[in-house]
Amino acid sequence: MDIYRTFHGPFPGCASYEPLLAIYRTALPALPDTQELEDASVEKLQERDSKMFFSRTEIRKVLEENVVRDVLSCGCNRCNDRLERNISEYEVLVRYVFNRARILLAILIYLGHASWTNVFTNGGYGDENLDGLLSYIQNHSPAGLSPGFARTFQSALNLFRPPIFAMGTPRFNYDEHQRFPYINDELCGVGSSGTVRRFEIHDDYLDKSLIEVASKYTQSEGSSVSFLI
Ligand SMILES: [Zn+2]
Repeated sequence: MDIYRTFHGPFPGCASYEPLLAIYRTALPALPDTQELEDASVEKLQERDSKMFFSRTEIRKVLEENVVRDVLSCGCNRCNDRLERNISEYEVLVRYVFNRARILLAILIYLGHASWTNVFTNGGYGDENLDGLLSYIQNHSPAGLSPGFARTFQSALNLFRPPIFAMGTPRFNYDEHQRFPYINDELCGVGSSGTVRRFEIHDDYLDKSLIEVASKYTQSEGSSVSFLI
């Protein structure tokens, strides 16, 4: 994705740039402290990148209403050149995005395509139907987006919308690059029948049914739940 952003931005001067940096700072698993970061090998950082995902709670905190307004009104060359915007009810758009499409906006900021927000929200898309938007992009290849954008959008979706597990969840076929909302993920052992890992599922992506089951078997006061697989 770093190479992708080299070509697609957002770049300094765009109203999406500072929010992008703020979004990065919320990425999980949390970055090591400065000293550990300096000592970390490329392989260790790459391993962390391969598990990276975002908390929807933290994303929504970053994208305060004034930030949403600034991003959606960016007048930089790329935002203006990419799409001619004709937004008659601008504040309605800001309110809609703030209330119902901040994860979508975060994805588009991440991909350097925030100026497409009004196009997609005009189509009725928001945080509740991101998969529907992916299908729309796959099936319609909107003019002005590169042919590979659907795949790019899917990759970003994997980071910003990891799966939520519930008791009785049927088996799914996940995308090859699907991210999972695991934190404190560590290898416990390797045996003849496979590997055993211990991890916690981030609160944002923990279904109530799992919390209820876990609470029966733990005296823990906190909401953190650990799993062994
Ligand atoms: Zn811009």
